[in-house]
Amino acid sequence: MNKATKSQINQFMEGLERRNPGEAMFHQAVYEVISSIIPYIQDKPEYHEYRILERLTEPDRIVSFRVCWEDDKGNVRVNRGYRVQHNNSIGPYKGGIRFHHDLNLAELKFLAFEQTFKNSLTGLPMGGGKGGSDFNPKGKSDREVMRFCQSFMTQLTRHIGPHTDIPAGDIGVGAREISYMFGQHLRLNNQFTGVLTGKGLAFGGSLVRTEATGYGSVYFMEDMLKQQGNSLDGKVATISGSGNVAQFTAEKAMQLGAKVVTLSDRSGFIYDKEGLSHDKLEFVKSLKTNKRGTLKEYADEFGCEFHADAKPWKVPCDIAFPSATQNDIDEDSAKLLVKNGCIGVSEGANMPSTIAAIDVFQQSNLLFGPSKAANAGGVAISGLEMTQNSMRLSWSVDELNERLRTIMRDIHDKCLEHGIEKNGVNYVKGANIAGFIKVANAMIAYGIV
Ligand code: NDP
Repeated sequence: MNKATKSQINQFMEGLERRNPGEAMFHQAVYEVISSIIPYIQDKPEYHEYRILERLTEPDRIVSFRVCWEDDKGNVRVNRGYRVQHNNSIGPYKGGIRFHHDLNLAELKFLAFEQTFKNSLTGLPMGGGKGGSDFNPKGKSDREVMRFCQSFMTQLTRHIGPHTDIPAGDIGVGAREISYMFGQHLRLNNQFTGVLTGKGLAFGGSLVRTEATGYGSVYFMEDMLKQQGNSLDGKVATISGSGNVAQFTAEKAMQLGAKVVTLSDRSGFIYDKEGLSHDKLEFVKSLKTNKRGTLKEYADEFGCEFHADAKPWKVPCDIAFPSATQNDIDEDSAKLLVKNGCIGVSEGANMPSTIAAIDVFQQSNLLFGPSKAANAGGVAISGLEMTQNSMRLSWSVDELNERLRTIMRDIHDKCLEHGIEKNGVNYVKGANIAGFIKVANAMIAYGIV
């Protein structure tokens, strides 16, 4: 990158940081995207004339609301709820809801921004949004979670709709929470529509949605390896997280011949040198979904290593799937991964690698699949859940699996279209440019709105 381009990027970031002070995660996500886009639009005056980057870094709308609920002891509790409606140029806002005790607006702004590009990459008509609350479902009874979700939806309902904004799950929001929110939306509006995705199969949910993000992340890795004449067979894989994305990443990686040796959670990670098996994974699914326990129980059950308060990136592996949360892999962890022989990283979580970590990966020519491409399988099947709801029918597992595989292959192809460089494929650049073009061109077509 030449000096003039670098200076344009820095200048843009100065303005963005001034307008959005203290929002480090949002700055990080924007920096990653504009570092690809500013060089790309150098010779394309229409994007400058219409101030597309300035407009794309300003959410269409942010709503924030108070959520009051009563705990089991009769105490009044107060949380904060948000919805960031980032951009609806190519379809209604679409993106998950996150419940996490230290969630803040900067985190949701970064997620909604990323979601806009990711949704564009899927090829489906979906804009980008994200929402959530600083409510912590951990340690709460089912009834407390229900009362919170009902109160949250009582506020959110006026901002969403099947043609406006269609939320889904994310960290801390799984099938239980989606069901409570959908039930409350139904009660308030008396309309049975596909206003949320990730629903139960009995009430409009889609098959393969639960598996889609994890499976998609493994498919993306498979395509990156295939591009180099390699495959997943026999590869040792490390995974962080043990929630929805991590579980189904492990499942698909094992099905395609990899050996999965780690999983993690907020308490630490397990190192199972023998590798996970179908039965061990079923134990994890039950532990996390039903018992909501910690991975120490896995280590006790199967007699493997448990490393408290640590991340799995020091474990030697061929391929890695960060599938927990943002900024999970820092520069030192990235260096360790490379030093220990890792050849590919597919980001199941959103923005799990810091900018410095991505630099390390790219300098070492490791295959790096950024989240907006690698984890787009989940929202893609959510998009297909919306289609099925509109058509009032359900597709089969085989049909949806086939569609998921095709969408992930198409995303990989789009990355190649814009990301091929002298030293290999720059998937960050490829994904950013391919995601940008569709949204930006729609914005230009609409004029100044
Ligand atoms: P879950 O809530 O099901 O699981 C999250 C996992 O990450 C849990 O194992 C959790 O630990 C761990 N975790 C959460 N916060 C931290 C932290 N601060 N430090 C260490 N570990 C942490 O969420 P998902 O699996 O759905 O989401 C994981 C990631 O994937 C997120 O970045 C999400 O945005 C992204 N994503 C998810 C999609 C989906 O379809 N679900 C779609 C696209 C992206 P513990 O078990 O202790 O709670």
